Amino acid sequence: MTDTIVKVDLSQSPYENDMIHNRWHPDIPMVATVKPGADFILECYDWTGGFIKNDESAADVRDIDLSIVHFLSGPIGVEGAEPGDLLVVDILDIGAFAHNSWGFNGFFSKKNGGGFLTEHFPQAQKSIWDIHGMFTRSRHVPGVSFAGLIHPGLIGCLPSADLLAKWNARETALIATNPTRVPPLANPPFPTTAHMGRMKGDARAQAAATGARTVPPREHGGNCDIKDLSRGARVFFPVYVKGAGLSMGDLHFSQGDGEITFCGAIEMPGWIHLKVELLKDGMAKYGIKNPIFKPSPIKPAYSDYLIFEGISVDEQGEQHYLDVNVAYRQACLNAIEYLKKFGYSAAQAYAILGTAPVQGHISGVVDIPNSCATLWLPTEIFEFDINPGAAGPKRSVPPGIDIPLAPDL
Ligand code: ZN
Repeated sequence: MTDTIVKVDLSQSPYENDMIHNRWHPDIPMVATVKPGADFILECYDWTGGFIKNDESAADVRDIDLSIVHFLSGPIGVEGAEPGDLLVVDILDIGAFAHNSWGFNGFFSKKNGGGFLTEHFPQAQKSIWDIHGMFTRSRHVPGVSFAGLIHPGLIGCLPSADLLAKWNARETALIATNPTRVPPLANPPFPTTAHMGRMKGDARAQAAATGARTVPPREHGGNCDIKDLSRGARVFFPVYVKGAGLSMGDLHFSQGDGEITFCGAIEMPGWIHLKVELLKDGMAKYGIKNPIFKPSPIKPAYSDYLIFEGISVDEQGEQHYLDVNVAYRQACLNAIEYLKKFGYSAAQAYAILGTAPVQGHISGVVDIPNSCATLWLPTEIFEFDINPGAAGPKRSVPPGIDIPLAPDL
């Protein structure tokens, strides 16, 4: 029998569960230690710890205190793991809880978090997605359903003290270049809402003052939000502390490349079944600085796509030099404009790009001055034909349904 070594009670605050933490720090104590070769199950809160509700208001997305995220399960110690090793993690399976078979997608207000297209969607909005086994659909986004490519948005090992100091130094320096920017350039340590797992007393207070926030992906992996790091994948994580200290959370039922809406994919609580092994001294042997992984043998079998191009010329017509970020934004905006012709609101189209198994590709980065990015929209997820043709687009989405919006206060 496989042990469930971290359990969560969704009716309890994650701050009351000492097998959960929401900062990265080398001194956070292991909640359990396993041997190489072991398999085990961890339960996870959704990334907000249950703050977002299944209802018709986006006030929760507007009002959430983003310094509380992400609630992670762990850290799990692995016997014999030493700095310089690679921790080999097989993601054997992931699932939603039978008693909580829904997830959410939101757009944060520009004043509280923002998102990839925050200039176009400056106010909080939220769609609810029902999970039916391996499929999902939303009462707020009709005409579309798809199979989930379930994955942890966030997974990685604890940083060493040196690595943590490097993160804090470089991110603090970036914030200093424009400290009043909205949304901010990065998030500095913030002890008030830190959850440091089982740490207590002075040691806890000191660690909370420097513990890194969990928002960005970093050398250890962390919040990479890679949809293909899904059940069936094998991931090789750099180890920085004795015992490795593997933590994870931010489970996604499905996500488009880029997680462009930021809140985010289809976010859900659930369970994850893992197996761990060690590759001794693997970082030096393979020249590894960031994680590498092998994809799952199982994927939703969507094979037909409508592919939108974008170049590094922005919405105002300004030329940018080989800026992939601008190019991908244009590809996304082009897809949204197209989907509106079939009756979707801009918000519904944005939510589809954030949640469905949409692919993003960097197509060209050398043809000065324009980079080219492409957004691959699977056509088979729609319940009507979205291909261009001589008859023109047919308005196929029932009117009168949209994604709840919460105006800024
Ligand atoms: Zn997420």
